[in-house]
Formats: sequence, structure tokens, C-alpha cells
Amino acid sequence: MAESTPTKYILLVPDGMADRPSAQLDGKTPMQVARKPNMDHLAAEGRVGAVKTIPDGMDPGSDVAAMSLLGYDPRKYYTGRGPIEAVSLEIPLNKEDVAFRCNLVSSDGTVMVDYSGGHVSTDEARELITLLDEKLGTPRIQFYPGVSYRHIMVWRDGSEDVKTEPPHNIIGKPIEEYLPIGDGEDMLRTLIFDSLEILDDHPINRRRRDEGQNPANMIWPWGQGRALNLPKFLFKTGHTGSVVAAVDLVKGMGRAAGLSVVEVPGATGYLDTDFEGKARAALEALKNRDFVLVHIEAPDEAGHLGDVEKKIEAIENVDKRCLGVMLEGLRDVERFRILVAPDHVTPIEIRTHASDPVPFALYSSFEPAGTSLPFDERAVEETKLTVEEGHRLIDLLFE
Ligand SMILES: [Zn+2]
Repeated sequence: MAESTPTKYILLVPDGMADRPSAQLDGKTPMQVARKPNMDHLAAEGRVGAVKTIPDGMDPGSDVAAMSLLGYDPRKYYTGRGPIEAVSLEIPLNKEDVAFRCNLVSSDGTVMVDYSGGHVSTDEARELITLLDEKLGTPRIQFYPGVSYRHIMVWRDGSEDVKTEPPHNIIGKPIEEYLPIGDGEDMLRTLIFDSLEILDDHPINRRRRDEGQNPANMIWPWGQGRALNLPKFLFKTGHTGSVVAAVDLVKGMGRAAGLSVVEVPGATGYLDTDFEGKARAALEALKNRDFVLVHIEAPDEAGHLGDVEKKIEAIENVDKRCLGVMLEGLRDVERFRILVAPDHVTPIEIRTHASDPVPFALYSSFEPAGTSLPFDERAVEETKLTVEEGHRLIDLLFE
């Protein structure tokens, strides 16, 4: 009987959930302090391990980490963040083209005040990016609006031989020291400062300042690369699948892998996302697919804010309002496995990503296991189940 029931597979990624011991928490981590009964249940009835999602020598970006978790070796397939998000926005790239992630940031022209332009709304950002495309766009340079502060700039027949800096790594620092360096630097620098001239006094930004919000008054291109080519997920794993995510990075990765991308209207990629909506979308997707990747950005954003209370709250929301709703919906499903794995650490003390191995929990509804390890960062040292190559973790889900 069991053989005729198809198994369903869930990969839940609370972005940046893992952390480091914090003085603010008396040496504990947000995962240790947060109330997360559902995750703890999966861990207690399943297995807890550690995974290294960032290969040595690569930047600990969500792009590299998410590629690993989806089962693709970043050392082999990674070309940059821009190209992944370009897939999500369905921007066609030729072989010679280079796609940049183009943040709308806040700057006074000398300092990187905020990598997110005050988490500018998608509607406001669309107007600003469209204006930039009119004013600065050429047959070779084009701007495409994405979600909130996350946009794409394509340089047709462009150079990728230029060093750029992720803006979330240089908050509060002088931009002069981090401007693009290399082939194309003059043009990129000109675009950055021209964008400031165009956007700084825009009515949207005047209003944002009046309301006490950071303006979205400058672009910051980074994460560039040429087109992404991934082998299809179905071909690699034998399973059909979907992606439930708010951010173009994860949607693009899924689309490039041939997974169907589910749009969730209330999913914002921020602390206020529709957690229940994502859970329901995942359950719906599993009705006619084997696998679903559910990605939630909120813990990472709290980490970047350096806000320990918000991070704890984000973890609790993931546990109760997303995982809890999914588990409820899976009651009648006989065979399922759930893998919960943060993609990387975003320690509140450093407010950016790091390459530390992260804990994961793997639960199967039909193969009882059981571990005495807690599902938090302590498991990284204590577990005997360590996955050195992050792209192999998904094999445990499907084995
Ligand atoms: Zn991430």
C-alpha cells in the first residue's frame, strides 16, 4: 500500500536564520532563544546535521548558498547574482551580455547610508527605475524593475571584468573606496553618480524624507555575470517541483532549474511577508508536484538590521505561521519528508553573511529516526552528520 502513495518533499529555507552566540542573548543565538516547537519537533523525530553551503573561496551570498541547497555545485554553475535574478524577471540575455544586480540605495553622495533605499516599495521603485531607463538607458545599457530595492541592469555586449562590492557590506562606509574597479569602471561610476542626480530630488524621495524614511536615491550595480545555465532539476533528481519565494534570486534559480514558480501575492521578501500564504501555496503546489522549495527572507533581513528581537520574531513566524500551517496541511499525507535548512548565517553582531556551516533538520514521516541534538548552531559541532559539499545535502532529502 505504501508503495502506491507518492512521497512529497519539502525544503524550507529560512534565509540567514543561523547566527553566532550573541552578547545581547547572554551568549545564546536567536535559534536557541526563539520558540520554534515545529522545527524542534521535526529535529527530535528526525535527524540534525550540519552543512557547508559556501564552498571555500566563494562569497557567502544567498545566491551561492541557495544554489547549493537546490543541489547545484556553485563552483560549477555560479556566474553571478544578476544573471539569476534576470531569469526570474524573464530578461533575455545573449551570450555576450552581462547582468548586474542594481540596488536602489540611500546615499548622500559620499557614504552608503542604506543598501535597501529604506526598503522602498515595489511601486515606488518601478517608477524610479523606469525613469532611469528613460534618462540613462541606451541600446547597450538597460534597467529592469524588480521587487523593492532589487533591480537589474543589463550591459549588452559588456564586460564582467570589473570588481564590484555588495552594498550591504559597506553600510556607513565611504562609497569612494568601493566604486567599481576594472574594465568599464568609468561608465559604471558615471551611471552611479548620474542616478543620484536624477533621483535625489525626485518627488518620491522628497516625500520619503518628509515621512522620515531613507530615500531610494542612487543605484549601486554589483553581482554581475553572464547568463546562467543549470541542468533541469527533473533530469537531475527525477522529481517535479515548484518554488515558493518572494525574492527574484530564488525564483530565478528555480526557473533556471525548470521548477515552476508560484506567485504569492502577499509575499514581500521582508519581515511583513505573508507566512501563511506561502505555506498554503506550498501545499497547493504539492498536489501535483513531488517537491517544493519554500524560501523565507525575513530572518536574513532582521540579521542585516542587526535587530535581535526582530530576528527571533522572524524565526518564530517561520515556525508557527509557515511550518506549522504546512504540517497541519500534511496531516493526511502519508509519506513526506521535510528538510529545514538556513542557507547561511547572518549574525546580528556583524549584520552581514558569513561562511560558517549551518545546522539542518531532516524529518521523514515514514522512517522514524530521532536525535538528542537541538536544532540550532550547537549541532554544527556536535553532529556526526556533516555534509561538506552543500549541493549534496538535497540527496539526503531524496535518498
Ligand atoms: Zn540568504
